Amino acid sequence: MTHNRSLLTKEWYKVPISIDCPGCGAQTRSAGIVVGPSSLVNAADSSENDVLKRPWTPLDAFAFVESLGGRTKNVEQFIVNRFHNAFEFRNDHLLAICQHCGESLSPAATRSVAMNGFVRLGQRRLLVNERMLLFASHVVLTEFHGGTSIEESGLPHPDYALMLICDAESTGGETGTVELWHSIARNDYAITVKGHEGREICRDTLHDDLAGVVATVSNLGLVLTQLHLAQPSSPYCRLARDLFLETLAHAGYRQEN
Ligand SMILES: [Zn+2]
Repeated sequence: MTHNRSLLTKEWYKVPISIDCPGCGAQTRSAGIVVGPSSLVNAADSSENDVLKRPWTPLDAFAFVESLGGRTKNVEQFIVNRFHNAFEFRNDHLLAICQHCGESLSPAATRSVAMNGFVRLGQRRLLVNERMLLFASHVVLTEFHGGTSIEESGLPHPDYALMLICDAESTGGETGTVELWHSIARNDYAITVKGHEGREICRDTLHDDLAGVVATVSNLGLVLTQLHLAQPSSPYCRLARDLFLETLAHAGYRQEN
């Protein structure tokens, strides 16, 4: 176990777990966070201002995040806000919580399920490196044994299918596209935003439903101007379009033309 380190990472995974909640006894879905070998760690100590001066070293292993706190950057935005059914910030600490009673789930209760799940899902290419920069001044990590590797998937990958391509316009009048992907296995949606030349600007995975997709598109300040089916003859793409239009209308979007 790596105690009391600072962590700086752009390689991390949300691992879905399902366990019996020690608080209410119900089976609950939550999640654990696993960071990857390229993550940087260094010794944290009481004088937190020194942290930036110390040399960072690569973790060189996958590790389960037992505890994460202290000074943090982006943890609230990229973990707690996005996966609010699974995590909470309490007393400056990231906690996995029960979806039913909201009680925190201790690392002792989630560790082995999350670590086993990480290996199992990773081998099936069902994990996505979130690739968003996180920093925390005090973390405790449990490293996987050497040789642990996973088949990492990005987008697009076999598990996600491209459903819709939407022409989009930013408030500044720039044009681009928003691609909507769906994974039947994971039962979630992902979007990829591309600029005018097709350069990927951002990708966002793990939306449980289309309302989340619509909210993200709207948060990015984008207006959708046209929807195209990825495969015109596919009934799945047509279904995705109908559901997406319905969700857009529900969110207050008006369809012109
Ligand atoms: Zn509970």
